[in-house]
Amino acid sequence: MKKSALLDHARPFYEKDQLLELEHAIDVASEAHKGQKRKSGEPYIIHPLSVTSILIDWGMDIDTVLAGVLHDTVEDTDITLEKLESLFGKDVAFLVDGVTKISQARAGMQDLMHYLPQTTDNLSKLLIAVGQDVRVVIIKLADRLHNLQTLQHMTREKQIKIARESLEVFAPMADRLGMGRVRVQIEELAFSYLDPVEFKRLQGQMRKRLGKSTRKLGIVRAEVEKTLKENKIENEINGRVKSVYSLYKKLKKTDGNIDDIYDLMALRVVVETKEDCYRVLGILHALYQPMIARIKDYIAIPKPNGYQSLHTTVLTPSQQIVEFQIRTFKMHEYAERGLAASFHYNEQKKSKAYTKGKSKDGTAVLPGHMQWISQLQEIATKLGNGEEIPREQLSIDLFDDRIFVYSPRGDIYNLPEGAFPLDFAYLVHSDIGKHVHSFKVNGAIQPFDKPLQNGDIVEVVTRKTAQPKTSWLELVKTTHARTKLKAQLRKNGAIEGISHAAAIIRDKARRKNT
Ligand code: MN
Repeated sequence: MKKSALLDHARPFYEKDQLLELEHAIDVASEAHKGQKRKSGEPYIIHPLSVTSILIDWGMDIDTVLAGVLHDTVEDTDITLEKLESLFGKDVAFLVDGVTKISQARAGMQDLMHYLPQTTDNLSKLLIAVGQDVRVVIIKLADRLHNLQTLQHMTREKQIKIARESLEVFAPMADRLGMGRVRVQIEELAFSYLDPVEFKRLQGQMRKRLGKSTRKLGIVRAEVEKTLKENKIENEINGRVKSVYSLYKKLKKTDGNIDDIYDLMALRVVVETKEDCYRVLGILHALYQPMIARIKDYIAIPKPNGYQSLHTTVLTPSQQIVEFQIRTFKMHEYAERGLAASFHYNEQKKSKAYTKGKSKDGTAVLPGHMQWISQLQEIATKLGNGEEIPREQLSIDLFDDRIFVYSPRGDIYNLPEGAFPLDFAYLVHSDIGKHVHSFKVNGAIQPFDKPLQNGDIVEVVTRKTAQPKTSWLELVKTTHARTKLKAQLRKNGAIEGISHAAAIIRDKARRKNT
């Protein structure tokens, strides 16, 4: 990509003075990377410019775009952070610093999977960077996407390493930020390198199957369009084809045959309002036979990453099984672009608060489903204080699927899948956790050992006289609840005697050694 092409690409979106800054950044980066080459033999500057082009496509604000141009300068050239700050300001320097720290933590990324204490420093750098400003991760995702797009120039060994890391770390990150389109791009590219034979095989199978069903689906689509028009519901219908990687995952999970997968192609109905979504659902169910078990209301209960839609699968009179996804234009925009949409150049001002995990008075300003970002900061602080957090718990807190549960007042809480009622109690407040007597979930008494489900309404019944018990350690899943509970138990003297004394001695000995 040439400088002039990139500027033309940016021209319709940014103000004149912003474009001048962009030009300046390109000059600085070009000068700094002068003489450096990529594996492909091209001048290195092509990489940061391509990353910037991706960020412009995603509609990112100017600071993120400038940081994209400069993202490799501090790590790979003589330019210092101070220099960047004096040229482009604090925000841009902060973003570049965050991206640099993530790259330095790359070794640590692997260790996220095989956690070793000596990497806590890298890991905490990474987590702090993620927690402080989500735009750092967005730049990193653009960086990774371009590296995947140019992966053919790497050795086979490097290809496999990068592809695997992309599937294990970056795709889940994109998913967690609600960036569905980017997640799919990363997954498809990475999977095509990790297992090229299987990728081609599934792609071929899919083409064959889709060829058969596309014509029939056209008939259904026309019928639905006509009915919605009669009902005066403004809409857009399009087909969405399953990605090869998600087909692979589903086949693996169900041990199944491609003929048993009903949502290879789905019809997506996009409408103006939430009310219209439910009307469309009603109309579809009047038109076709719904398969009851397959109706999902992600509008009332969004997925943990904020995804919203109604899903239903119906049986047409010609015995064809068709999946529908119904959503508003706004929900559609979010499903595709996720949190990146809040940094849109048109909406930067409105969303300034989203960049930081918390506002000045300490109240969370991230949307409910983004609580994991502030939880990352919590883990980062602990790691920074030299506390050891077992690897399983780190990966639980970071990457496992998450659920939403509600307090009786309707406050929303985000927990890892498989979390127990006690995890909820400690998340609400450690004093509530401490005095738990029993739980009511959706109005009925629930035992301590039954995991919560997405959408549960959880009421904690407390008694002043209730006290935490050692056995509860088996009944919590999150690091947060375990840490609080352990502290309380220690305070109550429930964990004491030899094991406690031994722990102190071990701790002291270790400190002396370092
Ligand atoms: Mn890079």
